[in-house]
Amino acid sequence: MVILADRVPYLHIVWARIVQEHPPRTLELMGSVVTQITVFWSLSLVFLLLDSFGPSYVKRYKIQCSSRQPRRTLLRKAVLIAALNQAFTIILQIGQLFIVRPLVPQITGLRVEPKLPSAAEIMHDILWCTLGREALFYYGHRALHLPWLYRRFHKQHHLFTTPVAVASLYCHPVEHVVSNILPVIIPAHILRIHIVTFWLFSCGVIAQASLAHCGYSFFDLSFAGWKPEVHDLHHEKFNVNYGLIGLLDAIHGTRDTGTRPLRTGTSDRQGQGLSKVKQ
Ligand SMILES: [Zn+2]
Ligand SMILES: [Zn+2]
Repeated sequence: MVILADRVPYLHIVWARIVQEHPPRTLELMGSVVTQITVFWSLSLVFLLLDSFGPSYVKRYKIQCSSRQPRRTLLRKAVLIAALNQAFTIILQIGQLFIVRPLVPQITGLRVEPKLPSAAEIMHDILWCTLGREALFYYGHRALHLPWLYRRFHKQHHLFTTPVAVASLYCHPVEHVVSNILPVIIPAHILRIHIVTFWLFSCGVIAQASLAHCGYSFFDLSFAGWKPEVHDLHHEKFNVNYGLIGLLDAIHGTRDTGTRPLRTGTSDRQGQGLSKVKQ
């Protein structure tokens, strides 16, 4: 949409009017809430419906076999925890926008400007945010696999040895902050990216997390260093593929794309996985 805005002046006019008519912090909050909720729940719902009512030929694209699929009780719990984590995100964002920022005006936050960013600026900022997110997520995730932290904060997410889309937000609130919130907002705030770029980046982040957990392999995007099997393998083996785009996994020797996930056995193998973690 915004790439088109380079050529369609109408979009610039509409956006300028939106900025003029809404206080910047309210606009930032509302836009972020709408993108988070719509992208996450629409993708989660599609995959939950596919799992429950999808035709048999769709099941051929399942990464792991039917005997390893999560129980309904765990799915119901995941829906509740995902909703609570989203509510937690919104509360933190309200606190950051309306309490912390007025108290610490040096925190300038994202740019809410009447001028839309150019396509080149969007691509530049998303590239750097993606690299920043990869670094923060990778090392935060490796830390969460240290036995003390794993037991307290990360084991909950790994209860899904066969992940589904809604499981991307099934985690302890501490993990939610460390893995899902900080790696997204820190690079965006350091770079002071445009709010529209941030919303586009957020949509991509949520879609990537949902697809990484969806349990289906519809497309092979391995040429771009990414495919759903990679994070699925992390849930299978615990000690590979800590990162998001494969870059730091390749550097640290934790990348595994060649082996298919194990298709038998259902036990929580975190102890086995942790013993193999290279520290
Ligand atoms: Zn996961
Ligand atoms: Zn993990």
